[in-house]
This record gives sequence, C-alpha cells and structure tokens, in this order.
Amino acid sequence: MIDQHLAQFALQIGVENVLIGDEAKPYLVDWTKRYSGEAICVLKPANVLEVSAILKYCNANSIPVIPQGGNTGLVHGSVPGETKSGSLPVVLSMLRFNELNTVNRLDRSVVVGAGVTIKDLATHVSKFGFTYGVDLAARDSATIGGTVATDAGGIRVVHYGTTKAQVLGVEAVLADGTIIDSLGSTAKDGAGYDFSSWLIGSEGTLAVITRVRVRVKNPLPNAHTYFVGLNKFSEASELIAKCFLEQKRVLAAEAIDEASFELVCKFLDLSKPISDYPVILLLETDSEVDLSAFTFVKSQSAKESLEFWARRERLGDAVGSLGIIHKADVGIPPENLDEFIAEFHIEVNALSAVKQTLVYGHIAECNLHLEIIGPAANDVSAESVTYKLVAAHGGTVASEHGVGRAKCEFLSLVRSDDYLQTIKLLKKTLDPKSILNPGAVIALD
Ligand SMILES: Cc1cc2nc3c(=O)[nH]c(=O)nc-3n(C[C@H](O)[C@H](O)[C@H](O)COP(=O)(O)OP(=O)(O)OC[C@H]3O[C@@H](n4cnc5c(N)ncnc54)[C@H](O)[C@@H]3O)c2cc1C
Repeated sequence: MIDQHLAQFALQIGVENVLIGDEAKPYLVDWTKRYSGEAICVLKPANVLEVSAILKYCNANSIPVIPQGGNTGLVHGSVPGETKSGSLPVVLSMLRFNELNTVNRLDRSVVVGAGVTIKDLATHVSKFGFTYGVDLAARDSATIGGTVATDAGGIRVVHYGTTKAQVLGVEAVLADGTIIDSLGSTAKDGAGYDFSSWLIGSEGTLAVITRVRVRVKNPLPNAHTYFVGLNKFSEASELIAKCFLEQKRVLAAEAIDEASFELVCKFLDLSKPISDYPVILLLETDSEVDLSAFTFVKSQSAKESLEFWARRERLGDAVGSLGIIHKADVGIPPENLDEFIAEFHIEVNALSAVKQTLVYGHIAECNLHLEIIGPAANDVSAESVTYKLVAAHGGTVASEHGVGRAKCEFLSLVRSDDYLQTIKLLKKTLDPKSILNPGAVIALD
C-alpha cells in the first residue's frame, strides 16, 4: 500500500519531491531533538494545486498530514507523533513556497509564499523601505506559514505586536483539497468572515496555508540598547508600564534571570556587563528614559548593541547545550509574576529528576520561557506541575509557541469545556476525518 501511495505522490509532484530514507530524516526530528516520529515520506509541493491534489488523495485514503515550515516549532507540532489510528502520516514541507511579490507602498502590504523565511521576508521588504514586524532568533529558518500557524511573537512584539497584528489575508487548502482564497486585492477587505483569523494559531490542524498577505511596517528608528539590573521580574514589567504611561517608545523588552544570563555569557565567551542582580532587563528604546534609580549599562556602539542582543538571542542555544530541555512558554498576569516564578522554582526543583530551572522572556507581554533541565525526554512530570501552577495563577499554558502535541493534554487547564467543544466542532466541520496534524492542539474523542 505504501508503494502505491508513493507512486501516486510522485505522479502529483514529481519523484524528486517525494523524500524517503536518509533524505527524509531531517524533517522527522524537531529543533529540540526531543520529538521525532515516522512518516511514509516527506512531500515538497510547489504550488497550491499540488497541495490540493495531495490533500484530496490523503483525505480519501485517511492518511494524516503534518504541515511543516522551517521546523523550528518547540511544542511537537511540526513533526509526527503517535496517531490514534496508528496510520503513518506524510510530512508536507512548504519550503518550496518561496514566492515574494512587489510591496504595495500605499496600503503597505505584500503577498508572500508560506515557505518564505522571516529573514528573507525582512530582506525583501527592506528593498521597498519597510520592515516586517515579527522577528525572532529562528529567523533564518522559521517561515511565514509556520509563524501564522503558531501566531509567533518574537523580540519586537512590544512594538509591532504578534503575527496576528501583521496578517491581512491568507490562501489555504482544506483537508478535502478545497482552496480558500481570502488574500483580497487590497489590505482593507472586510467581505465576510475573516478566514485568516481562524487559521492564526491553528498549528496546521485546520488547513494548509499556502500564501499570506502581510502588513509591512516602517523600519525601527535608531535606538539605544540597555541592560538594567533589577531585583524582581515585576520591577521589569513596572518599568515598562511606566515607559508606556510616559509615552516613551519601547522597541524591545526582554527579561533574563541571573542564572540564564551567566550561562549565556559563558556560552558565548562574553563579559557579564551587570552582576549581582537577580533579573537583567534588555531594554531597547529611542526615547529618553530616566534610569537614574537603577544600575544599568548602555551600549556604546552598534557592534556592542549586537553583543547585548546575542546574550538574549543565543540563550536557547546556551540552554540547549545542557542536554534535553523541557520548555514551557507561558503567560502570567503581571500581578502574579514574582509569586509564580518563586513557586515554579520551588515546586519543580522538588522533583527528583530536575537539576535546574531557568526563566526569561518577553516581559512587556508577561510571557515567560521556563526551561527545565534534568528529566528524561518522555518524562512530563515537571510540565504537569508547571502548567497546574500556571493555571492556579490565572495564566496561559501557551503564550507564543502554540500548543502542539506537547501541551495538548494541558489545554483544558486554561480553557473552558464550552471553548473546547466549540473548537472540536470547527475541527470536525473543516476536517471530518481529522487528517490535518492529528493529535496537535486538540484531542478528539
Ligand atoms: C532559536 C529559536 C527561537 C525562537 N524564538 C521564538 C520567539 O521569539 N517567538 C516565537 O513566537 N517563537 C519562537 N520560536 C519558535 C518558532 O520559531 C515559532 O513557533 C515559528 O513560528 C515556527 O515557524 P516554522 O516555520 O519553523 O514552523 P514549523 O516549526 O515547521 O511548524 C510549526 C507549526 O505550524 C504548522 N505549520 C507550519 N507551516 C504551516 C503551513 N504552511 N500551513 C499550516 N500549518 C503550518 C506546523 O504543522 C506546526 O504545527 C523560536 C524557535 C527557536 C528554535
């Protein structure tokens, strides 16, 4: 049967775009190396009609399909896992969707292929005098399709918002092969339901995104980069809130705990510009901000500013060098930040398998990245303790990385039964056989 499927896919997209064996391997393991799975093959279609034909065939034959962009997702959404049916899936790599169109300078929008990377999109729009609002350390590989599917935030979220704030329309293919085009011909198109908003954060479970119309933004002004020494995470969020109140423009606000800061400085063989503070805030602003009440250092050159940033952007790599990492990307209401963080360290470190816990994140959004080192790859006891604590503090278990398979069982901690039933209904309506990324985001009965 598998040979029959492979022959059919080869007819649809050419045998050179059907990968098996060693060629397929890199697509079957994720960035964290914690998650991997088996697949019939990896398919690399190049246009929407090919995606439609593949989905029609997979739907008719009940073959699960895992859409994949740059495979930088961190929640086990982009590579196969176990499916209830036990059927092997295909991985649908969107990397050949690399179309870049002319930027419309009047409505400040551009239509691009889902496989265009964040870096290539930023480079492309810069030729027209604009920037793209979402930027993240995975920019060389993360794609526009993947960032829409996860509603990625990133390092400029405080200034430009998450991906949701950039998307104006999408072209996508439903499980049965139906092509939905809601790209529109202008940026302002309110005809009917906003289909793109259904797909933002849908993590490949409702449709395969093939093209996206995004808003482009004015480039960042020249700015100053600071490290500010603080005693608590809440001091960082209060400082940012004060900047907002005083109408200062904040271009980035990243808080890092001392242990993470120490680790990344050692990892990069860079100095530690601020010592003896439990929290270090990386603040970027083009406004005059009064920091006289704090210990701070200000970058003195563009090169030094990049080195400040390296200590934030390479944190994931520095932590990754310690082994298998359990990553929890959560949001906590500002009033509960310090209490939550203190309880997280105590409760998670009380588990015998845990060796270390680290905290950093996009502080203006109260989005914390919690890193847990020690437990075996398949041991989720630390996540379980963490997410229960998140729920008890009124937070969210998924702030910007999505839910994937990794957090599916924890979604009910922060979403009501009515919410869960409604999204199941939507899933069953658009994808009755549940072929699109089954097991991710929502567990069907
Ligand atoms: C070093 C590093 C730094 C990161 N920093 C950030 C950060 O600051 N902010 C942030 O939000 N995230 C961050 N991430 C996480 C990751 O980069 C994002 O989740 C990103 O959006 C994933 O994009 P991708 O193209 O790699 O998607 P993938 O990893 O390939 O897929 C992610 C999900 O989207 C689905 N998907 C992918 N393409 C499509 C498509 N065309 N149609 C439908 N579904 C699709 C997949 O099925 C999967 O569920 C970081 C990751 C790394 C490794």
